[in-house]
Amino acid sequence: RSYTPKLIEVSYIDGSIERKWSNKNFSWTKKLEYYNKKVFGNLSFRPNQEEIIDATMSGHDVFVLMPTGGGKSLTYQLPACICRGVTLVISPLVSLIQDQIMHLLQANISATYLSATMEWSEQQEILRELNSDCCKFKLLYVTPEKVAKSDVLLGCLESLYARDLLPRIIIDEAHCVSQWGHDFRPDYLGLGILKQKFPTTPILALTATATACVKEDVVRTLGLSNCIVFRQSFNRPNLSYSVIPKAKKCLEDIDKFIKENHFDECGIVYCLSRMDCEKVAEKLQEYGHKAAFYHGSMDTSERAYVQKQWSKDEINIICATVAFGMGINKPDVRFVIHHSIPKSIEGYHQECGRAGRDGQPASCVLYYSYADYIRVKHMIISSIMEQTPPTSGCNHNDVTNSGMVLETNTDNLLQMVSYCENDVDCRRLLQLVHFGEKFDSTNCQKTCDNCLKVRELVEKDVTEIAKQLVELVKSTRQQFSLAHILEVFRGSLSQIVKKHRHETLRLHGAGKHLLKGEASRVLRHLVTEDVLVEEVKKSDLYGTVISVLKVNEAKATDLLSGRKIVTLRFPSSSKPSKLSKRVATPAKGVLTDAKLNLLQWDNSTSQPLTGVDLNLSA
Ligand code: ADP
Ligand code: MG
Ligand code: ZN
Repeated sequence: RSYTPKLIEVSYIDGSIERKWSNKNFSWTKKLEYYNKKVFGNLSFRPNQEEIIDATMSGHDVFVLMPTGGGKSLTYQLPACICRGVTLVISPLVSLIQDQIMHLLQANISATYLSATMEWSEQQEILRELNSDCCKFKLLYVTPEKVAKSDVLLGCLESLYARDLLPRIIIDEAHCVSQWGHDFRPDYLGLGILKQKFPTTPILALTATATACVKEDVVRTLGLSNCIVFRQSFNRPNLSYSVIPKAKKCLEDIDKFIKENHFDECGIVYCLSRMDCEKVAEKLQEYGHKAAFYHGSMDTSERAYVQKQWSKDEINIICATVAFGMGINKPDVRFVIHHSIPKSIEGYHQECGRAGRDGQPASCVLYYSYADYIRVKHMIISSIMEQTPPTSGCNHNDVTNSGMVLETNTDNLLQMVSYCENDVDCRRLLQLVHFGEKFDSTNCQKTCDNCLKVRELVEKDVTEIAKQLVELVKSTRQQFSLAHILEVFRGSLSQIVKKHRHETLRLHGAGKHLLKGEASRVLRHLVTEDVLVEEVKKSDLYGTVISVLKVNEAKATDLLSGRKIVTLRFPSSSKPSKLSKRVATPAKGVLTDAKLNLLQWDNSTSQPLTGVDLNLSA
């Protein structure tokens, strides 16, 4: 059974907005403009900010998908200032909360937070203020585990609600709700209680990263009703993207890259482990860069010190784990380097998004090796084994649930692998389809390594591969994800694949001779051509949404009967899987046709039917 949540998308990626929300005559409009200037010191609103505020002030539940740096905080801080009562903000990290509160206090807006690590007497004082008749706080920030575990806090919120002093609830970094997200936090699952307890208080959920699955998960878990979704394009035209094969001398390559392209400029090198951070930083220092490391094992003051030095440009390069960056606001980050493969496309997009916030060109370079993929996979497996499962109770369920989390994370990682191994399609396009956005790769203007490659492409007939893939999907009773099908096709013996092997015996490993990228391109092509359909499905166990591949019988019959031939273009070099060593640099205004045409032949007429853009579906 497929799951269809109630969503009204009002703002689309081209920026067009339903008229209702671009009407500037709400009773609060004048006040908003005044506060935006006088209190927040902004000259004007950024795209969509005012519309989002109008929607939430009108009492609707609202879901906002806006890239990092788009200005999401203002959409709740401003309403909080002009509404009676206290706005509740759920945010995942105390460090993020402290940063926000510091800014609010600087603007003379009274805000506070409660966290489990705070002194009890201090918490008492804040709670007393919240319960008083004339509470001075306009915003109360809490971490999600506080909501789940503190009856005192819930009691306090109930009292505010009863006195009509709880005008709005904000879920910041809302993708943390979803196990499909790259940053799942079990405590976010408990937030459904807010809608149950405070049904008439509008909820505003904000995130910079959400695929269709994540979005539906968030809406369902939070119990949002008739939610209005604002969504902005995730394309970042000023960023360039490259994937480089990771060699032993990777650090020399990084040094050279920085010296040649970003000498003395500011950047982040994302590393897999704490040890890696330290090693990379040390090496870069040896090469003469002003580098430092940043990771979770350092104590708070050490981390704060490094971050401060970096903001003041006393350090140029931070070598960090992904723990570094949420809420980081430095506008002039000129490069983001991934020393190892990221765990998901979403995570990758968000980490890259920390570069070039000032709109000036910036580079994103990823060093990829298959060995790193294996390393990350092991890290994922062991971290899931360590984690306490989000649901308590019956053991059997716990095991099944962590199995699902494992499957999700492995899928996310495999998508990242196929992104890295793809040396044909536009990187922007590959990222954006993942967020459900259409993108014409000519607009990349050669700002990614694949679009930059000048080379001959040869057309290959891949009909047989396509047929096998469709049959494989059929034989697995249409209940597996794209990444899983690919693994089976290539003969993987991973745990999950092994578990289901009996169902797929005949075609298991049928694509062993192919390069991973090839099989993946054919499979994705079948999805864009509607021969296979990716369906979002609610899992029976926990109501988590997963996406599975189904066969579109009508179109599949054409293919299987031999009426339809599928061809794709591949690089003509003898070793097509070899990745280019060229690094893309930001746009210089060249517009060249980098479009890869994909021809479909109709056997009956021997004529090409259409030349459509190769639009890969994630
Ligand atoms: P997000 O949460 O979407 O990543 P933030 O809310 O942290 O983004 O905002 C990013 C930066 O943009 C902040 O420094 C903020 O002060 C600034 N900003 C937000 N709205 C405006 C505006 N209307 N005019 C100018 N600067 C703004
Ligand atoms: Mg934010
Ligand atoms: Zn491109």
